[in-house]
Amino acid sequence: KMYRLIYSELSHIIGKQFGLKIELLSYALCKVSVASLELISIADIKDICSIKDTAIHENFQENAIKFLSMECPVCYNSFPRSRMETMYLCNHMCCLTCAQDYYRNAIQEIRDPQALKRLTCYEEQIEISDDIKLNFFQYLGSKLNQWFTDERLVLDKYHENLFIATRDSQIKKCGNPRCTSFFNLINNNNRIARAPCPHCQFQQCQQCCRK
Ligand SMILES: [Zn+2]
Ligand SMILES: [Zn+2]
Ligand SMILES: [Zn+2]
Repeated sequence: KMYRLIYSELSHIIGKQFGLKIELLSYALCKVSVASLELISIADIKDICSIKDTAIHENFQENAIKFLSMECPVCYNSFPRSRMETMYLCNHMCCLTCAQDYYRNAIQEIRDPQALKRLTCYEEQIEISDDIKLNFFQYLGSKLNQWFTDERLVLDKYHENLFIATRDSQIKKCGNPRCTSFFNLINNNNRIARAPCPHCQFQQCQQCCRK
């Protein structure tokens, strides 16, 4: 009965052209825990349906089940893939809630350049080399904006601490508190001179990034 219900729902959502996949997927969904089932989104279903056809007969169902109920290594609950967060510099993965909890704390502790490593992963601390710094902070910044839209204080703390932790390095956060961009001081030959942020044009001292 459960199977028939899921089958008709899925046919509705993703279209009959995926006939066989829908059949297999419906069986797979019957085996996924209810808690995980409740969190499954259309994106998960579409991702699964785009798994290559060759894989279907052998282990489509097995893959689908894995994909729909992944265990978070931090809280041990199961979640569909769309609710799991992958760290940027490694492949560690945990659920959205655990990622938010981790970053909420880590943000409080990043007041010096060494501590910035805490932002890389909940499981390990990875060195953020200069060539990936801009991309890393851009990525992290947009993640944090998403995760903490309703927690303005967390975001403010992040920007404040990040500014303090990077102001002495060549790649630093803009000194304008309202600007979230990072920039690279290319001609930094230790002159005391002003440089504009390429993003907001805020003029700031190259040494301390204050106005
Ligand atoms: Zn978790
Ligand atoms: Zn990691
Ligand atoms: Zn700026």
